[in-house]
Amino acid sequence: MSKPTTILITGGAGFIGSHLVRLMVNKYPDYHIVNLDALTYAGNLENLKDIENAANYTFVKADITDAAAMQELFAAHDFDGVIHLAAESHVDRSIANPMSFIETNIVGTVVLLNAAKQHWGDFSGKRFYHVSTDEVYGTLGETGFFTEETAYDPRSPYSASKASSDHLVRAYYHTYGLPIVISNCSNNYGPYQFPEKLLPLMINNIRHNKPLPVYGDGQYTRDWLWVEDHAAAIDLIYHEGKNGETYNIGGNNEWKNIDLVHQLCDVMDDLLGRDQGTSRALITFVKDRPGHDRRYAIDATKLMNELNWAPSIQAEEGLRKTAEWYLGNTEWLERVTTGAYQAYYEQQYQTN
Ligand code: NAD
Repeated sequence: MSKPTTILITGGAGFIGSHLVRLMVNKYPDYHIVNLDALTYAGNLENLKDIENAANYTFVKADITDAAAMQELFAAHDFDGVIHLAAESHVDRSIANPMSFIETNIVGTVVLLNAAKQHWGDFSGKRFYHVSTDEVYGTLGETGFFTEETAYDPRSPYSASKASSDHLVRAYYHTYGLPIVISNCSNNYGPYQFPEKLLPLMINNIRHNKPLPVYGDGQYTRDWLWVEDHAAAIDLIYHEGKNGETYNIGGNNEWKNIDLVHQLCDVMDDLLGRDQGTSRALITFVKDRPGHDRRYAIDATKLMNELNWAPSIQAEEGLRKTAEWYLGNTEWLERVTTGAYQAYYEQQYQTN
């Protein structure tokens, strides 16, 4: 019997990774999906409860910076491809502690590139897909968009570490011929996002009538993409993208932070049966983040034209779906905010 297509997804217990793992496990029953995650504070196997017993799914707890463990893993599995999402991902944490971003995002990526390079023979039929962010491009003024040709100009330790990893992935393509593909995506939102990020933080604070912290003047503009649309784009690019290419992924859905928060407040008042304006009254402007980029906007024309991708929903609909999900999954939210989720791995994988 021939070996099934085997794909290593790193960071699959995180926010975007868990959506991608779920999509791949369900959509490709003939593939073997190996989810590798170190289960940092951001990794939560409870995100994957619905597929954890699937026959085509394996979870491996390991750290991508551990070169010996990665060599062993690549020796044990004949991976056809890697989809690399594992990263330290929160800008504020990168300002407080840049070194862990250097270690995971830069060193960890090179450890994986080396393992692929060493174990993949002549590279035929292989693919190394690196998932990255639009933050590598820096900041925009009132107009214009980031394209795949925009020069890199990262401005936070997080974006600088992702930019560095993007460069290294491209270097392995040009230097060694490793078949790589990269995508740079805008802000994702949706279910299972760790509640330190804007939308789940606001939803949780609204539930508890706590202040809603908005940085600076609230005029920062971001493009927002429904997380399942990102996962679908990754699936498409993994299967149909061209080696050596970069694809921008975005929702064509720009919002100023304050407008997004207002919209969310109104949806939450509606869902919670509160008077309109109740949640808006909780908004508190707080001291700005240092080096805060003013505006990000993505031009995703290449992905739309070449691979026929389009976002399935816009933020008005997505915000409501997001708010409904968190309100319908308050137990998940409580377990994340109290840290209880961290015991789940021990319970699920150690005592079985
Ligand atoms: P996340 O923080 O929710 O998840 C990251 C996952 O990586 C976690 O499960 C964590 O346990 C794991 N991880 C961290 N360090 C590790 C290590 N050393 N070894 C193994 N696993 C480790 O992040 P996310 O928001 O899901 O982002 C996933 C990827 O997508 C990242 O590479 C990020 O840069 C990129 N991205 C995110 C967004 C966004 O809006 N969230 C947008 C564009 C790109």
